Amino acid sequence: MSAPALISVHRPKDLKSLQEIVARTEPPHYFLAGGTDLLVQHKDGFIPPSTWLDVTGLAELGGIVHDGDEIWLGALATHEELVRSRIVRRYAPALVDACRVIGGPQIRWRGTLGGNLANASPAADTVPALFTLEARVEILGSDGARRQVPIDALASAPRKSVLENGELITGVRFPVRDGARGGFQRLGQRRAQAISKVSVAVTAVLDGTTFTYVAIACGSVAPTVVRAPRAEAILREGGFTADAIEEAGREVSNEVRPIDDLRSTEKYRRAMAGVLLRRALSRLRLR
Ligand SMILES: Cc1cc2nc3c(=O)[nH]c(=O)nc-3n(C[C@H](O)[C@H](O)[C@H](O)COP(=O)(O)OP(=O)(O)OC[C@H]3O[C@@H](n4cnc5c(N)ncnc54)[C@H](O)[C@@H]3O)c2cc1C
Repeated sequence: MSAPALISVHRPKDLKSLQEIVARTEPPHYFLAGGTDLLVQHKDGFIPPSTWLDVTGLAELGGIVHDGDEIWLGALATHEELVRSRIVRRYAPALVDACRVIGGPQIRWRGTLGGNLANASPAADTVPALFTLEARVEILGSDGARRQVPIDALASAPRKSVLENGELITGVRFPVRDGARGGFQRLGQRRAQAISKVSVAVTAVLDGTTFTYVAIACGSVAPTVVRAPRAEAILREGGFTADAIEEAGREVSNEVRPIDDLRSTEKYRRAMAGVLLRRALSRLRLR
């Protein structure tokens, strides 16, 4: 076994051959899905000599399926496929909203859910929505062992995930919630082709004005995406009322832990987390 001189690319035809290639080639291993992050990172000189596995031919990573009381989203589902899926529109409206604003059309047709998760970016736009769906990430190890990780345990720090070398995300699962409403709001430097400075996702189920389920998650306001349990509690107690929405917006601004960086300031991010939450909640009525 010798270290790859630069980049060697392999195209496994199934999971078994993927495992064999990982076993006989030198780490680090990268998976090539849409390539919208990997190729940019390679061009910018951030990828060391490595072995790349083109996973686009792996049928096991595809599909968007209503599977009993769960929904399965394959890792290779592109953002555009998620937007167009009836299943996702019905059971994960926050995810549809998020995928709709990712990049431009070319990025949405190529970029995949698995790639967005594996990056472990606090600004990855699918992640807050998956937090609100309480999704679980299915992972296949290079030795064939499978495990599931709750979405809120996947990333441990910016760009650091619990994935070991050679571990592949095969997809995510989340429970079916009938009557799910949801939304995603974000702010970037521009409306499109910009990394989120702050983002907020909400998924809720309402019985009249009572929330029988409500989950809020925020992106780009902490080292990883975070839930907002205090704002959620205000809504559970106060219901779908103008007062509770106002108070939840104030509370989420206190709950998040943003920093000043190149893209924005702590103060602005806190203020905007509240604005975006109120906006997302107000629009639930229209869904
Ligand atoms: C112009 C532009 C605009 C963008 N806009 C946005 C945006 O608005 N919002 C946003 O969130 N992102 C955005 N992105 C980032 C990117 O498009 C997304 O993160 C996309 O979902 C990445 O998926 P991919 O299939 O292209 O990943 P790839 O580039 O193929 O892979 C990225 C990384 O994930 C790993 N990986 C891929 N698939 C798997 C898997 N199944 N299991 C384990 N690891 C895997 C690879 O090893 C690699 O390290 C943008 C990128 C560009 C270039």
